[in-house]
Amino acid sequence: MIKVSKYKHNIIGDIMKNVSIWSEEIDKSKVNSLDTDLDVDVAIVGGGITGLSVAYYLSDIGYNICLLESKEIGEGITSRTTGKITYLQEDLLLKIKDIYNEDVAKKYYESQKEAIKELNRIILENSISCDLKKSDSYIFAENKKDIKKIKELKELLERFGEKIESVYSLPDDTKVKYGIKGNGTYVFNVIKYLKELRKAIEDKIKIYERTKVENIIKDDGEYVLKTKNNEVKARKVIICTHYPFFLFPYLMPLKCSLEKSYVALYKTNSDIEYNAITICKPTISIRYVEGKRARYKLVLAKSHNVNFNNDDKDHFAKISSIKKRPDYLWSNIDVITKDYMPYVGKIDDNLYLATGYNTWGMTNGTLAGLIIKDLIIDKRSEYIELFNPKRSSNMSTFIKYPLYMFNSAYSFGTSKLIKNKSWYSKSVEFKKIKGCNVGIYTDDKGVKHIVKNKCPHLGCSLIFNEVEHTWDCPCHASRFDIDGKVINGPSNYDIHFDE
Ligand SMILES: Cc1cc2nc3c(=O)[nH]c(=O)nc-3n(C[C@H](O)[C@H](O)[C@H](O)COP(=O)(O)OP(=O)(O)OC[C@H]3O[C@@H](n4cnc5c(N)ncnc54)[C@H](O)[C@@H]3O)c2cc1C
Repeated sequence: MIKVSKYKHNIIGDIMKNVSIWSEEIDKSKVNSLDTDLDVDVAIVGGGITGLSVAYYLSDIGYNICLLESKEIGEGITSRTTGKITYLQEDLLLKIKDIYNEDVAKKYYESQKEAIKELNRIILENSISCDLKKSDSYIFAENKKDIKKIKELKELLERFGEKIESVYSLPDDTKVKYGIKGNGTYVFNVIKYLKELRKAIEDKIKIYERTKVENIIKDDGEYVLKTKNNEVKARKVIICTHYPFFLFPYLMPLKCSLEKSYVALYKTNSDIEYNAITICKPTISIRYVEGKRARYKLVLAKSHNVNFNNDDKDHFAKISSIKKRPDYLWSNIDVITKDYMPYVGKIDDNLYLATGYNTWGMTNGTLAGLIIKDLIIDKRSEYIELFNPKRSSNMSTFIKYPLYMFNSAYSFGTSKLIKNKSWYSKSVEFKKIKGCNVGIYTDDKGVKHIVKNKCPHLGCSLIFNEVEHTWDCPCHASRFDIDGKVINGPSNYDIHFDE
């Protein structure tokens, strides 16, 4: 039985790294920012696994292409992933089958298998060294209801031609009520992968970091992307920013919910290799990670909808599954779509979007590259319709529109009404200064960091995450650092407060 028990240590005071292990690989020394106007055929906005995959697939079509990234390559959601490359993705296939039918679920399954093959091909052809390891995937159940689901999933996968084994324990001898094992799955270090993928395309694609696209304007059939000091004219634009930073023409708040999860890493001497995840909530996900100095067991737990249940300190405190202090601790957010399939494709004339991976972005981010390329070179592909971001709703997904609206309105309202003081230590305060609601964090040296306590996206009040030291929005999950610089959108603006 896997236990997610109460963490015994002082989460805030203990010495541990409150950043992801992958983010340590990001090279911040050489940064090439945009300092001139550009005129290109294609502009890619965002340099996570999606943006880089799209750039890779488009690099051989003879177009003049640039990629603009507001921070450093990989520094977004991708740097806080768990980095499994697998088609055994909780109960997604069962959900897709229930919403549509078995044929659609099969197509989604095939798309994931193809993405795994593609990732392996790209890594091999470009001699990318990224700690890629074969790692059998397990899905396990911890209660009776879930056993039935796993059996249903096993039968479905067997009908798709997959060889699936039943198990009653994980390779490290942890007993589970019931589980299944699939192979042909992998783990890797995604930041190492992106660094080398970048090298493979850099002579064909202009890549600019610390270059935020502040606005996109449609002008006479072309797009003009405005950065702080420059303009990029582009015939086609591909939005790979995770959650889009604009509201129109694709009203994302009506199309998805957001899920936050908490990840801990513990040093281990074990050389066992496997990865595992529960079929249903509460999610527990496990893999092993090669670090620079040691090997670690990664445990993800306490996933929740960002609109509810936002006591980060408590979530972090509860994620410890083994009774020792974690060496790394971080949280991350991903987009959950109405029908559990990604949104990849055209959203307006010559404007494309790739997001909505339901926490499975290593495969789907790669696949986004393939799909966008097919769309741009006008090639038909079986996944274009499947992942079409403008696909129509059926009854079971249509009812999610009012649900998303209600949830956002609820978190907007509660963010304004409740400042749950019991969550916070004395280092966090909320005040009104010069008529502006501000949040104040006082650091270890007594320095006060003041930010506007209003998310520029849709105006929600923010919550302070005392473990990672970030201001987090409970409505659509924008995150800001202690000085108000945006870490993750949808907000495209900072919340600096000038006294
Ligand atoms: C806890 C957790 C665990 C996960 N584990 C797995 C896993 O094991 N396997 C798996 O397949 N998937 C996993 N995922 C999902 C996966 O990590 C994500 O779906 C994926 O990394 C998203 O990549 P992205 O490139 O779309 O977004 P990002 O990595 O966020 O990239 C978007 C980029 O756009 C940039 N940007 C934003 N706005 C602008 C702007 N205005 N101008 C310029 N640039 C901008 C950002 O800085 C960012 O770098 C996990 C997700 C979570 C939350």
